[in-house]
Amino acid sequence: MGSDRKRDFANETLAARRRRAASVLEILRRTYPDARCELNWSTPLELAVAAILSAQCTDKRVNEVTPPLFKKYRTAADWAAVPLPVLETEIRSTGFFRNKAKNIHALTAILAEEYGGRLPDDFDTLTQLPGIGRKTANLLVATVFGKPGLVVDTHFIRLTGRLGFSDETDPVKIEFAMREIVPEKDWTAWSHAMVFHGRRCCFARKPECARCPISAHCRFYATPPKKKLQS
Ligand code: SF4
Repeated sequence: MGSDRKRDFANETLAARRRRAASVLEILRRTYPDARCELNWSTPLELAVAAILSAQCTDKRVNEVTPPLFKKYRTAADWAAVPLPVLETEIRSTGFFRNKAKNIHALTAILAEEYGGRLPDDFDTLTQLPGIGRKTANLLVATVFGKPGLVVDTHFIRLTGRLGFSDETDPVKIEFAMREIVPEKDWTAWSHAMVFHGRRCCFARKPECARCPISAHCRFYATPPKKKLQS
């Protein structure tokens, strides 16, 4: 059975891969009906700041750090006016605080000076701004502006490989591979589903395959047990 399934995965056509992705999403939508971005925010600017803080940090920690900051700094100009050492101290517990503070400063200064304090809603413009790469730009367009976005974070990358949708390791290549497999209208839902499943079942070190609702669609699960966790 295991080797049969393995052969199936190896010879899978694009059409079959798309059908499998649709099945995965259907199951995960049912499993996690409340799947969403787990960073707390109430304005586009707050989500941009929270997203910068979330690099190499848990959403939980970011959500602990941001409430007093969001209360104190309400506009892009407010953020840009905070002395850098003060901001560094305030966000220290999120890690990589010097770089993050520098990015928040640079981003909010540009927003205040060139964009009337507002976050642009366009993906290409967003990626030109300090501290905002493709992942964050996709998160912003998907979460704040209701446009489709594939948010390729660590969970997305891990699950894409385990499920057997792409063996790429580069996030941009993975994003473009998944654009071919998941319909655009489902990009945002797919992204949230990957993160939720990665955080609740398909853990990095020890995925809980025995209770996983999408195991029938997973290449990792079909691999003989002795090979599991080696790659
Ligand atoms: S079967 Fe295991 S590896 Fe595959 S998605 Fe589920 S938890 Fe992850």
